[in-house]
Amino acid sequence: MFKPILGIIGGGQLGSMLAIAASKLEIKTVIFCDDIDAPAQNFSNEFIYGQYNDQNKIKEFVDKVDIITYEFENIPYETLHKINKIKPVLPKPSVNRIIQHRLAEKDFINNLNIRTTRYVSIEKKSEMNSVEDLLPGLLKTVTLGYDGKGQHPIKSLESLDSINIDYSKGYILEKLVKLKKEISIIITRFSDQKYEIYEPIENIHEDQILKNSKIPAEINDKILEQSKLWATQISEELKYIGTLCIEFFIDRNDNLYVNEIAPRVHNSGHLTINAYNVSQFENHVRAVCKLEQIPLKKISNAKMTNIIGDQIINFRNKEYGENEFFFDYLKKEIKQKRKMGHLTTLLN
Ligand code: AMP
Repeated sequence: MFKPILGIIGGGQLGSMLAIAASKLEIKTVIFCDDIDAPAQNFSNEFIYGQYNDQNKIKEFVDKVDIITYEFENIPYETLHKINKIKPVLPKPSVNRIIQHRLAEKDFINNLNIRTTRYVSIEKKSEMNSVEDLLPGLLKTVTLGYDGKGQHPIKSLESLDSINIDYSKGYILEKLVKLKKEISIIITRFSDQKYEIYEPIENIHEDQILKNSKIPAEINDKILEQSKLWATQISEELKYIGTLCIEFFIDRNDNLYVNEIAPRVHNSGHLTINAYNVSQFENHVRAVCKLEQIPLKKISNAKMTNIIGDQIINFRNKEYGENEFFFDYLKKEIKQKRKMGHLTTLLN
């Protein structure tokens, strides 16, 4: 069987775990990243350091691989589009164009009759005067925000004067959902109507950063079925190839909302490495490299804890039980709020 060489744009922990999954399948990987210290170079066959608009480096990368994928969604669309003319980029770049922009993403979801929180586009300060019914809300930059970056909580119109906001950036104002729970669904789409879908994962955030994930999620059957159906509909409508994550909110009245789509493998799916026969990473590699689709089987319930900032020091010196799996992302520098590793515990 032909085994393509897989190019991965981005060299963080997701790139590392993709490279590890690929090597298990005897697929060679080349990582292209704009961080010279990218941890994924420890796990890939080759590493190319360069800026994402450096045409010479892009060419060097593209020449070395057969298929290209990416570990994060904020790679310039133009870069992906240009590469896609030479070698296939999966998931296809048009998916990224929608999802990189919070307004386009929410419009896309609502057009499928799938519920999101209420929202409005804000391009100048004066537009904030007529949004009282969306408050309290969150003002988010339409592009380039993650882990709470680029977000301003807005309690009331009066509170606006005390917050320093650069309106030239372009925002979306979202009504704050009174959260009961957050869940995510990881799904890998191989081709038309061919999927592998993981059961919903329950997520706990601290300071807008994911802290813990666990399966099973404690949710009712209606939410379980609805979340799976919506995830399937979204991936089908995008004609997506690879692993995708849909993040959901559940409010205090048990209404389900899609928060956002991550067109890639996802932090909440790290527990799939140990809790399933095929992880989200392996499934992504299988789908983009057109390898065999294997029916998913759950091995165990599980809980995953992210290790953030200098917490990693303690974890590096611990002893672990048989049901515990510690992953050190081997990042050179410890930074506050930076994801440094994770621990998955299998539960029965
Ligand atoms: P995001 O970067 O949009 O996924 O937001 C990160 C986290 O902030 C989410 O996982 C929620 O915990 C919280 N959050 C974001 N938007 C809302 C909202 N409209 N209502 C309530 N919580 C939110």
